[in-house]
Amino acid sequence: MAYITLKNINKIYPNGFHAVHNFNLEIEKGEFVVFVGPSGCGKSTTLRMIAGLEDISSGEFILDGKRANELGPREREIAMVFQSYALYPQMTVYDNIAFGLTLQGVDEDVIEERVKNTARILGLTDYLDRLPRALSGGQRQRVAIGRAIIRKVGIFLMDEPLSNLDAKQRVTMRYEIAQIHQETGATTIYVTHDQTEAMTLADRIVVMKDGYVQQIGTPYELYFKPANVFVAGFIGEPPMNFLRGIVRDGKLPFGDTQMDLSKKLPDIKRYEGKEIVFGFRPEAIVLGAQDNAYQINCKVELTEMLGDNTNVYINAGKDQAILKVDSHDTPEVDSDLTFSIPMESVYLFDGETEEVIA
Ligand code: ATP
Repeated sequence: MAYITLKNINKIYPNGFHAVHNFNLEIEKGEFVVFVGPSGCGKSTTLRMIAGLEDISSGEFILDGKRANELGPREREIAMVFQSYALYPQMTVYDNIAFGLTLQGVDEDVIEERVKNTARILGLTDYLDRLPRALSGGQRQRVAIGRAIIRKVGIFLMDEPLSNLDAKQRVTMRYEIAQIHQETGATTIYVTHDQTEAMTLADRIVVMKDGYVQQIGTPYELYFKPANVFVAGFIGEPPMNFLRGIVRDGKLPFGDTQMDLSKKLPDIKRYEGKEIVFGFRPEAIVLGAQDNAYQINCKVELTEMLGDNTNVYINAGKDQAILKVDSHDTPEVDSDLTFSIPMESVYLFDGETEEVIA
């Protein structure tokens, strides 16, 4: 049986706002699950319901086989790391990490051993005597994580723990969080709006939008098998290119190319006269002409050199797209370009429901 089960969970705030709709998820012991989605989609609300900081309006929250809706935060054996990691400024790193255990009246010897072990995992051994103000942002965040993991609870909840750090620190801390998870094996639920964080950390990702779960899957599944237009556009950078259009004679125009969609969806007839969304990832194209692909002629508008890759902004008639190419193959701005979209890299979505159809 799953370690944590969320069954038809809803959250309706006292002002009547329905923030989370029918949330269903089963989490196995030791899993690293990330909730991702744009601001306001209900990630933090869901996490706070799991933490016991927010009432569950309806549905069932099951922890290790037992209904836990009514348990208070302290009874849930859960540790939480927040966005703003308020450390006690007048206490040393040692005392900040030890604080929870000291409150519980744990033996000094035991506390010392646990603080030292936690500091070792977090690379804070040399900083135990310092005050928080003498630490970098990343080091402070590690102390905040230390305060949580020293409690040796089974479940960690993290709400945007890296958002106060600069880009470089975020990458380092991301790696450290992955290592801490490997070392502690604790079940972790992590909230972020950053898809890169989600993709790199998660065993499984829950993509949310407007209070609804859009898709639950491994990073691989979300990238290669997105369930709908929203997930396809949310995961991946730059985002997937989308062309919307009405299917005529089984075809959709892209610039001067009439793409025969029956090659991708043999029963395209059922979409005749209906809107369809054609998607392909910037990195999935091949420069030049190729078999079993849609060949598109376009003009290069702008290029963005990113290092090993370059983003190429193109125009094909009224259609626009971004291509991601090896920087050695960067085309000239204003030049004519032909590229191919291999059939296996094409996604088709229903224009009305936005669900994937091929
Ligand atoms: P962010 O990334 O901005 O933190 P989020 O996905 O975590 O966003 P939540 O904080 O869960 O979003 O909020 C979900 C929705 O619920 C938002 O529209 C928010 O305005 C609303 N909301 C949050 N708290 C309350 C409240 N106490 N009363 C009414 N509505 C609320």
